[in-house]
Amino acid sequence: MANDTNTFQAIISHCKEYGFIFPSSEIYDGLAAVYDYGQWGSELKRNIRDYWWKSMTQMHENIVGIDAAIFMHPTTWKASGHVDNFSDPMIDNKDSKKRYRVDHLIEAHAEELKAKGDTAGADALIAEMRKLEAADDYAGLKTLIDEKKIKCAVSGTVNWTDVRQFNLMFSTEFGAVSSENEEDNKVYLRPETAQGIFVNFLNVQKTGRMKIPFGIAQVGKAFRNEIVARQFIFRMREFEQMEMQFFIKPGTQKEWYEYWKEARMKWHQSLGIPAEKYRFHDHVKLAHYADAACDIEFDFPIGFKEVEGIHSRTDFDLRNHQEYSKKKMQYFDTEINQNYIPYVIETSIGLDRSVMMVLSHAYTEEDLSTPEKADSRVVLKFPAKLAPIKLAVFPLTKKDGLPELARELMDACKPHFKCFYEEKDAIGKRYRRQDAIGTPFCVTVDHQTKEDRTVTIRFRDSMEQKRVHMDEVKTLILAEIF
Ligand code: ATP
Repeated sequence: MANDTNTFQAIISHCKEYGFIFPSSEIYDGLAAVYDYGQWGSELKRNIRDYWWKSMTQMHENIVGIDAAIFMHPTTWKASGHVDNFSDPMIDNKDSKKRYRVDHLIEAHAEELKAKGDTAGADALIAEMRKLEAADDYAGLKTLIDEKKIKCAVSGTVNWTDVRQFNLMFSTEFGAVSSENEEDNKVYLRPETAQGIFVNFLNVQKTGRMKIPFGIAQVGKAFRNEIVARQFIFRMREFEQMEMQFFIKPGTQKEWYEYWKEARMKWHQSLGIPAEKYRFHDHVKLAHYADAACDIEFDFPIGFKEVEGIHSRTDFDLRNHQEYSKKKMQYFDTEINQNYIPYVIETSIGLDRSVMMVLSHAYTEEDLSTPEKADSRVVLKFPAKLAPIKLAVFPLTKKDGLPELARELMDACKPHFKCFYEEKDAIGKRYRRQDAIGTPFCVTVDHQTKEDRTVTIRFRDSMEQKRVHMDEVKTLILAEIF
């Protein structure tokens, strides 16, 4: 499904029409790269979050979770390197005044070359860009843009500024006291959740009596003033991350890095998404904190893109926090009777990108036409465990005691999973509405139910229908969503 712009646009429209995702403050024409999750989007997002949380903190006995604050002491970001290094090279077109991230501009040009059949040219361009990026050679990147005559998509000109660095952190002020020096009150909205874990490393290790190797997981909001914020929830200015820092003995980082690469890929495939939709991308230019890093990329309708990063972060963060805070960040290893600053393997996945990944894979347009009648449906084929609603219950009619029986089924099931009740419209229409929001099971209560307490259960993907006893429905669904 590479670069299928129509599919991508169709998914965005579908998300809005069916209550998954809305542009933020839409009545005021929205806010760039900020989105709100609606009634079904928030359920889907919560299910993905819970699935990740369970896989980390319940399925691993040596991983615990925390929930740190978004605001952190400003020195945190000095120590982490974000104040000095968290920036992207960017360039402005002097005619359109449009700002581009340099790598995005060059990558888009490479895509154009590929589309024209010049794959070798595209690959050479990307290779050259990576080389210049690795050397932090901004003048070289500018020369490359000039030499290749890369144009601005808005003005169509090649009139570019120099390449400059742009820090991605949002800042605000703390407290009501005015200060001569504004820097004194400045706090940042965290650009990653990881630092909340690092600064709590000793708190958790000591109070939890944790033994290395162990992990700390966290899910929470992060904020980045992205220069080019587009592609729906793929690149937002406010987003959610699910991160886990795994603390290990120095020298064991290679094996743990491989372990987590494999474990995370398995997790992705456990979402019911086939292996060929994923690939690893090893980083050539490593972030300031890493000694090895790769991305797990997913085949979105806009092409293969990063959904998760796995980074071997060395002892960079803990060592720097020790230096800046003057507090020891050491662990005493009783097995070798030695103190050391642990090394860290990080797994960092975007929750919103995961939502987009699951939606992209689930979105299906089906032609159901027969020689007699044209027909089609849009169905979201979510794995049952992630679907916003698990069961929809429909009385065939609003009378004859059918709603009462349907309510009885609702009452039996709703303490266990999310159910939805509807009486209005023909059954076929009700089925289609549930298909569009990805409900895996619909149950219809009809007149026969009154006689023998059997109902019709209809399966979303196959559209097959089967008669089962009303009392079996709960167990049947629980078996599918676990
Ligand atoms: P990219 O190269 O796409 O900007 P990154 O390498 O900066 O991403 P990380 O810092 O490794 O991303 O963050 C970990 C994860 O957080 C990413 O894999 C992605 O899923 C998610 N993420 C990062 N930035 C954003 C964003 N602006 N909007 C949504 N998700 C994001």
